[in-house]
Amino acid sequence: MSYTLWNDQIVDSNEVVIDKEDRGYQFGDGVYEVIKVYNGEMFTVDEHIDRLYLSAEKIRITIPFTKDKCHKLLHELVEVNNVSTGHVYFQITRGAAPRIHNFPADTVKPVITAYTKEAERPLHNFEHGVKVTLVEDVRWLRCDIKSLNLLGAVLAKQEAHEKGCYEAILHRGETITEGSSTNVFGIKDGVLYTHPANNFILKGITREVVLQCAEEIGLPVKEEAFTKTELLEMDEVFVSSTTSEVTPVIDIDGSEINEGVIGDWTRKLQAQFETKIPKSLQV
Ligand SMILES: *Cc1c(COP(=O)(O)O)cnc(C)c1O
Repeated sequence: MSYTLWNDQIVDSNEVVIDKEDRGYQFGDGVYEVIKVYNGEMFTVDEHIDRLYLSAEKIRITIPFTKDKCHKLLHELVEVNNVSTGHVYFQITRGAAPRIHNFPADTVKPVITAYTKEAERPLHNFEHGVKVTLVEDVRWLRCDIKSLNLLGAVLAKQEAHEKGCYEAILHRGETITEGSSTNVFGIKDGVLYTHPANNFILKGITREVVLQCAEEIGLPVKEEAFTKTELLEMDEVFVSSTTSEVTPVIDIDGSEINEGVIGDWTRKLQAQFETKIPKSLQV
């Protein structure tokens, strides 16, 4: 049996009913988070909860309980579902109301759902790297919000999938922004570059962990945008996200990075990241 968090209750997943006029369903009017679970323990959960509240605030949804309560509910969900390694998916929508674009009355309550999924870490990608493709970034100008509106990301990822690529790396004109569901990093002459966290990208929590890891291993960081041409000339490239962790990129549209060999800095960052992951209690 599996359980789902539905508003403020943990219920049998089969009991959850979503209204056809839920604004998440009709407008993508909501925000979400994906939180990694390692060995039964959520990773950077407070950072994810903070970002959920921030995303919600930016679109003027009020989450009807405290961050503390939120943490407790998610913790309980992971426990009752007996998750070992996988993730929690958590979303909140503006609620269900007759379909008009502007906000419904204050009496309409937001709708919260969270569920868990058991999933292996993609270790093969970490070890061997992935191919990616460049796709024009046609998303809106509030990419800082982790919104349920994911059409731009869906279409970009599908294009990547059809080309046999793991990820679509997005660019606005010449400037690289981020991946369709990841942040993008390049290393050139011993400096780590990534797009600054402004309205053009989602400020990834894994991105923050990676920047911390870089500091710890003595790799200087510049949060500066770089171009498509500069990307292709990087010594090392990788993408990051909750589920992708630090995934090395070895090929961009058929052009190899470092002759297809994963670089030393990327390996060191992966090793440093690994030290932060909650470990199994059994030795
Ligand atoms: C969620 C997401 C990321 C990665 O963020 P994490 O917090 O590291 O998982 C990057 N870009 C986009 C567009 C995202 O939606």
